[in-house]
Amino acid sequence: MARLVHNEVWAKLQTDDPGVEDAAYRLLRFRPDGYAFMPKFKSGAWDGYISLYKGSAGTFPGGLLGRVSERLTELDVDVDIEDRTQPPLVAPELAGGINLKELRPYQIEAADCAMTAKRGVFEAATGTGKTEIMAEMIRRTACRSLIVVASRDLAWQTIERFEGSKREVQTLEFPNAPEHGLYGIVGDDQQTPGLVTAALYQTLVRRLMPVCLRCDAQGELEQRTCNVKKGGKRCGGDLDFTETEYVREWLASFDALHLDECHRGAAKTWWPIVNSCPAYWRFGYSATPFKSDPITELKLVGATGEIMYSFSARKAIDEGYLTEPFVITVDPNFSLLLDEEKYIDSYRDGIVEHVKRCRLIAEIAQGTSEGWGVPTLILVQWTEHGRNIKRALREIGVRAEFISGTAPTAKRRDVMHAMDDGRLNCVIATTIFDEGVNVPAIGALILAGGGKARHKVVQRIGRGLRVVEGKEYLAVFDIWDSHSEKYLLQHSRQRLGAVKDADYAHETLTPKQVMARIKKGDVRPHQGRSDG
Ligand SMILES: [Zn+2]
Repeated sequence: MARLVHNEVWAKLQTDDPGVEDAAYRLLRFRPDGYAFMPKFKSGAWDGYISLYKGSAGTFPGGLLGRVSERLTELDVDVDIEDRTQPPLVAPELAGGINLKELRPYQIEAADCAMTAKRGVFEAATGTGKTEIMAEMIRRTACRSLIVVASRDLAWQTIERFEGSKREVQTLEFPNAPEHGLYGIVGDDQQTPGLVTAALYQTLVRRLMPVCLRCDAQGELEQRTCNVKKGGKRCGGDLDFTETEYVREWLASFDALHLDECHRGAAKTWWPIVNSCPAYWRFGYSATPFKSDPITELKLVGATGEIMYSFSARKAIDEGYLTEPFVITVDPNFSLLLDEEKYIDSYRDGIVEHVKRCRLIAEIAQGTSEGWGVPTLILVQWTEHGRNIKRALREIGVRAEFISGTAPTAKRRDVMHAMDDGRLNCVIATTIFDEGVNVPAIGALILAGGGKARHKVVQRIGRGLRVVEGKEYLAVFDIWDSHSEKYLLQHSRQRLGAVKDADYAHETLTPKQVMARIKKGDVRPHQGRSDG
């Protein structure tokens, strides 16, 4: 016999059977990165596991209630669940106040699922209108809502979408600032909380954590005194929780929590926020919620809940909501690099400073942006790489803009607008484009930056699949980096694997074949006009 009592944030297991407790502990345990190198593990004093089930109190994150209850039932334990959550009051300003487009059938279905589940994750492919679903959830739940986002662009984009207009920059002091009105932003120098607030993870975490009165360092919520070590001595100064209490009080005032891009590692981002926010409605949004690591998955389910609704890119393409991509792996067969002991060296020599590789990318971009006249986006990881490709483009007479992560918000928006209305056809960008932010309607995407993260490949391609009149497909180019066997080739294989898993049409070609196809006007094989 076991009893599970839960509120919005936590669940508590009540039992006098140690076997039942052990089952919960084991179900919710994981080994953190690098556990094998920790002294406690090496000395045999610790088995390397941490569990989200806190044995002393019997508590665990509330979203995991279903998993625990299921496991106990499997073990033939009778489970009795007591729900102590309280549905919030409705704020009438929100019920009709949100500017909303007509929803697509799957968006309505997703919202229906969420109203029943009350907590959980929307798994929606990039470009399927996550913000629309979020807007609909805010309209339906009609209560004080906190949207936690990962970038300043996303905060602006979300709030402007809800307001239906561009907004002026305002700077007020948070959290003492008066409420701004219906919609607010916290982060990016914007401190204007509202009834619905989009807030940056980073800003909230920074303000939530206590500060050492002696050395000014940031502490953790569980600490009382400062742990910072200087010259082998622990600081030990008292931590100041004044700001922490303000922010906690403010977080406690929300009835709905929306975690955007919730697949991002929990530890340093949303984990302390969600545990301080006893919202009744708890939702996560991501195209790839469970693709990062098992710890993030466990914490995400704990914070929100299980996946409530899935809409894959493949399904969206088949139903005509997204454009089909055609992915080409260009195999230039460059000669092997000589020295590649370290990853960073092979990345620099094989990708960032590889003159021929930068030139190849510039030529492909020239073919698509000038030859075809379609907006072309080149994605890089290093700023230096972006500058090198821009130089290679300039050498062959192609005008391009490069926007890096440090570019001011205004410049980034200007470049995106210029691309959208056809004033600019070639843009190089760092991975700031990886998540969330709406990318102009591009016709060609060049994945110049390599890398091995499979979910990022799919995410990056997904950014370019917005349906636009007259666009038949998105041409995607990646480079097969066989010139570094130890690292870059492995990464190329990972990326290709991701493309195949996503079920996207794909072909490997030599640079000569690619240029010939670009000249022909279509990179897909045997593309006659017979099908139309
Ligand atoms: Zn200190």
